[in-house]
Amino acid sequence: MNGFIFVISAPSGAGKSTLIKKLMEEFPELSFSVSTTTRKPRPGETDGIEYHFVTDAEFDDLLANGHFLEWASIHTSRYGTSIGAVKNVLESGKKLILDVDIQGGEALRKSLPDAHFIFIAPPSFDILKRRLVDRKTETEHTLQVRLKNAVEEMKSVSLYDYVVINDDLEKAWQDFKTVFLACHMRPDHQKLGWDI
Ligand code: ADP
Ligand code: 5GP
Repeated sequence: MNGFIFVISAPSGAGKSTLIKKLMEEFPELSFSVSTTTRKPRPGETDGIEYHFVTDAEFDDLLANGHFLEWASIHTSRYGTSIGAVKNVLESGKKLILDVDIQGGEALRKSLPDAHFIFIAPPSFDILKRRLVDRKTETEHTLQVRLKNAVEEMKSVSLYDYVVINDDLEKAWQDFKTVFLACHMRPDHQKLGWDI
């Protein structure tokens, strides 16, 4: 495969956005696949940056028009990856990060088998809960849904190529960067320069 696709999944609150942001700052050649969601923007989120925020009816239209490579109902909203962003990367040899849930990870394993699959794990349920509470982005209902789903999502760790445990942030960042760099050494990405 020409381009690099990194599929990153984690239970909500594990620190995935924090680590992806650091990676994109350190490696500016990386692009982020901006998903479409029916979730309402959080304070500080901008349409077109973190997500394309749409209504339920708009999501239905996109779905009917074959806009998504994969999509899923997650927690209390719908989320989808647009085909366009991925196609462009595969054709141009660029590097793209896809931030998707476990259902998205499973679907992409089938449609993008050569992608690199990385899971970010919180160190424990209690720490995950503390992070989500402290982030102050959830209502009591969405907090409970996300925590319940986290227990299920943790059962899918083995579907991924790498797992980064985000306990101490600096250590997790070093591990995440190491995994990212190691992905570049896979045989299909190496230019060997041998006439064989
Ligand atoms: P996700 O994108 O996986 O939902 P976030 O990146 O938003 O998670 O992180 C959830 C919360 O936890 C944020 O408030 C973030 O600042 C904080 N956080 C992330 N990593 C750590 C860490 N290693 N230690 C303590 N807090 C963290
Ligand atoms: P959040 O609402 O916290 O931003 O994201 C909730 C969940 O939706 C996260 O697990 C995130 O990875 C997932 N997600 C975001 N975009 C997509 C997408 O396009 N497809 C899928 N399947 N999951 C997504």
